[in-house]
Amino acid sequence: MARVDAIVLGAGIVGTSVALHLAKRGLAVALLDRRAPGEETSYGNAGIIEGNVVFPPAFPSDPLALLRVALKRATEANYHLTFLPQVAPWLLAFRAHSSPQGLLETSRAMRPLYAVALAEHETLLAEAGATRYLRKNGWLKLFRGDQSFAKLDRELALAKDYGIPYRALDTEGARELEPSLTPVFRHAVHWEGVASVTNPLAVTQAYAARFATLGGVVMRGDARSLHRADGQWRIDTAEGPVDASQTVVTLGPFAPDLLAPLGIKLPLGIKRGYHRHYRGAGNAALARPVLDADVGYCLAPMEQGVRLSTGAEFAARDAPPTPVQFDRLLPKAKGLFQLGEPVEATPWMGSRPCFPDSRPVIGRAPGQAGLWLAYGHAHWGLTLGPATGRLIAEMMTGATPFCDPAPYAAERFTRR
Ligand SMILES: Cc1cc2nc3c(=O)[nH]c(=O)nc-3n(C[C@H](O)[C@H](O)[C@H](O)COP(=O)(O)OP(=O)(O)OC[C@H]3O[C@@H](n4cnc5c(N)ncnc54)[C@H](O)[C@@H]3O)c2cc1C
Repeated sequence: MARVDAIVLGAGIVGTSVALHLAKRGLAVALLDRRAPGEETSYGNAGIIEGNVVFPPAFPSDPLALLRVALKRATEANYHLTFLPQVAPWLLAFRAHSSPQGLLETSRAMRPLYAVALAEHETLLAEAGATRYLRKNGWLKLFRGDQSFAKLDRELALAKDYGIPYRALDTEGARELEPSLTPVFRHAVHWEGVASVTNPLAVTQAYAARFATLGGVVMRGDARSLHRADGQWRIDTAEGPVDASQTVVTLGPFAPDLLAPLGIKLPLGIKRGYHRHYRGAGNAALARPVLDADVGYCLAPMEQGVRLSTGAEFAARDAPPTPVQFDRLLPKAKGLFQLGEPVEATPWMGSRPCFPDSRPVIGRAPGQAGLWLAYGHAHWGLTLGPATGRLIAEMMTGATPFCDPAPYAAERFTRR
């Protein structure tokens, strides 16, 4: 029987960062996944390390935008009709948290994590010998219309309060940064303090390799084998059973598969998203990620090509992919940037794990001694992985947490 101090279940960017932080503090750790590290949701994101998030994505307040989504004409969102009854309670809760006051509360609750997000990545990237993947030249958000740009007032004012640097640019100012963009937009904001990576999978792999050099063990197995045995948590792995007094669940969108049978039912929703790589046509190139905000997709230069990633799709996590948003948005995307041939035969699909208040759960699992939770990082899990790893490792080892973990406690959903 193998025995470790802690088992971490799920080797995405969050679990790998948690395992690495625990190993850095001298714990013997087993990191378990059914695949190799980083191959699920953490593989396919836009690579943005967005420590400058002011407000989370919100439920649409514009009735016309909502109508476009309902009629399946929206470029930024899609849904499966059969999934609506199941997702309706989550959508209502999400809408409630999208009020101006709700967004402000989320913004303040999340600021301590975002504020350290880039610095925490930089530390791990340096220790893992992986700084070559990091690009520190910001990201550019484009606005095709005056109206959508004007709606940014509140966000920009709060960014100033937080001391977050940005530059509001006109079309030509933005094209000085990204000359390959066609002038089909009127305004842009360059968020100068944002960084990005050229290969999110390679970053998780580098953190996993660093974890192994510190004595951590990466194992294959099914997290759902977790059970109590002899007063410990036990998992069955390809190499036999492993015991530990502490276990961390970092299964991202898959966490309910394990937690529901344990009686832990938290309101995790799923926003599916797609990406596809394209070769640049001619000399077209991008230096940094670019968001076409009014259309609702992102273009990010990656080692594999320009990665076009989509907005949200509300559908069952395991339902077959329906990448219809590409047909809707590609004419606009090609009008902005000369996309060449797609690299893959079909788009990649992943599921953003989202709580309705756009905060992750980080902390103890209710009612299960020795069980910890770190999941639900929604649109910004790549960004928040290392900060989450540090926070939960500090909590688990009895150190003073670098920020108050109360806003991320699971009890916010279970308290009556
Ligand atoms: C299109 C898109 C674009 C995005 N862009 C960005 C971005 O630019 N910046 C950003 O910060 N975030 C972005 N995100 C969000 C980010 O990718 C996620 O929040 C993050 O990857 C979640 O990481 P995770 O480790 O929690 O989950 P995952 O990466 O899904 O890790 C969970 C792990 O659990 C394993 N697992 C599941 N079930 C079992 C089981 N039964 N047994 C064993 N192992 C199991 C899986 O194999 C997986 O490795 C984007 C997401 C999408 C979909």
